[in-house]
Amino acid sequence: MTSSTPHALRGLAACGLLSLSAAAQPPAPAGAGLGPGALAPLLEEVSPDALIATVRSLENFGTRHTLSETESDTRGIGAARRWLLREFQAIGGGLQPSLETFDVPPGVRLPQGATVVNVVAVLPGTMPAAAQRAYYVVGHYDSRNADVMDATGDAPGANDDASGTALVLELARLLASRPLESTVVFLCTAGEEQGLLGARAHALNLTGEKAWRLCMVLSNDIVGDPVPGPAVDGLSAWPGDLTTTPDLRAAAEGPDPRRVVRVFSEGIPRNPSAAELARLRTLAAESDSPSRQLARFIADVALTERLLVQPMPVFRPDRFLRGGDHTPFNEAGHAAVRFTTLHEDYSRQHADVVQRGGKPYGDTAEFVDAPYLADVARLNLAALVHLANAPTPPANVRILTAGLSPNTTLRWSPSPEPDVAGYEVVWRDTTQWQWAHSLDVGDRTEVTLPINKDNVYFGLRAYDRDGFRSPVTFAGAAER
Ligand SMILES: [Zn+2]
Repeated sequence: MTSSTPHALRGLAACGLLSLSAAAQPPAPAGAGLGPGALAPLLEEVSPDALIATVRSLENFGTRHTLSETESDTRGIGAARRWLLREFQAIGGGLQPSLETFDVPPGVRLPQGATVVNVVAVLPGTMPAAAQRAYYVVGHYDSRNADVMDATGDAPGANDDASGTALVLELARLLASRPLESTVVFLCTAGEEQGLLGARAHALNLTGEKAWRLCMVLSNDIVGDPVPGPAVDGLSAWPGDLTTTPDLRAAAEGPDPRRVVRVFSEGIPRNPSAAELARLRTLAAESDSPSRQLARFIADVALTERLLVQPMPVFRPDRFLRGGDHTPFNEAGHAAVRFTTLHEDYSRQHADVVQRGGKPYGDTAEFVDAPYLADVARLNLAALVHLANAPTPPANVRILTAGLSPNTTLRWSPSPEPDVAGYEVVWRDTTQWQWAHSLDVGDRTEVTLPINKDNVYFGLRAYDRDGFRSPVTFAGAAER
């Protein structure tokens, strides 16, 4: 597998690594001075009209199948990616767009192998100590119909995944003139339907000089079509009262699936070493991976910003036995989550565009709900602003185990950014999904609390002078 190195990724990685010790550098203003809980003016700029216009433009290429033709200017994946690149280039600002080309060898859904081309745009971070962290927003611009190998028939892919691609482009448009403290990468992948090829090639190439110090991924795949769940045998999708998560049930059962989006996160990291797996078992950390902390973080942001669409965390890697573009990032050891509508309509997704018995089939733009897609975009935008302006999650967070005590002593390494103002210890009952309590312990690297470590899970997050909080680092254990 070969790749052409995106210049932006290469340059950034180099300058970010050098700047890690530049702690005296004052932080640059970020996010247009918008603080946590006050992002509404920015979020209101998300345009449903622009989003649906992008979906329609992508649909108009007929098919964006990864093996479709690349010479035409009006049909096929080549025309689509050149159009996308021009859209990113037209945004201007600090955005650095490029095409990223990979030669992928033959595979199950790629009998001859293929050249897979991602469209990527990098927005460098403004704070030297934070610019070597990258937060990704991802959508796949390739499409398919009922036959995954049909490279010529129509495959409009409006919801799957022109919706996610449009979201990525819209967020680039809104952030390009307002760079954040950390780097944001806008990634439109190809080859998703042929086996997550573009995302995997990108994730596997984040090594050496291109390695980010921290990389977290928000993948949006099927985020525009909030159809109600079907009734089966007269039963609604949520018939019982046995759920132990009434808050989620209330959100999901509400009259309007346009108020919720699923956020999938892995629990056990995808490729742990034997030692890491043993550590997770010892700590009972099977629901505390970095991806899961990212999902909890997104839920926190949605509440803080009082967003109309709230995330419904689903604590599994993806839909049942399935995968998406976040999966290769998980495989490479990065925190990555997937956004998808509450219900999926399989008469549209991956379906041929036909009429049967008066019912339309196929994944066309008429079924994309632009206001809903805009609300999912707002959730992503708010999460990116919080992630990229907050400090790095604290490192080496551990519960000291040198002696038995009913108290709990936590110790950690400070986060590297110069605007770190302090730390919050968080904890929750072992049966709770979200961090339930937080305590501001100020700017220090150790604290002892009169709370029994046997009965709760502990974590720690850093906050900066503007009040942006990092995702939580789960507390491990060490003698010192
Ligand atoms: Zn998809």
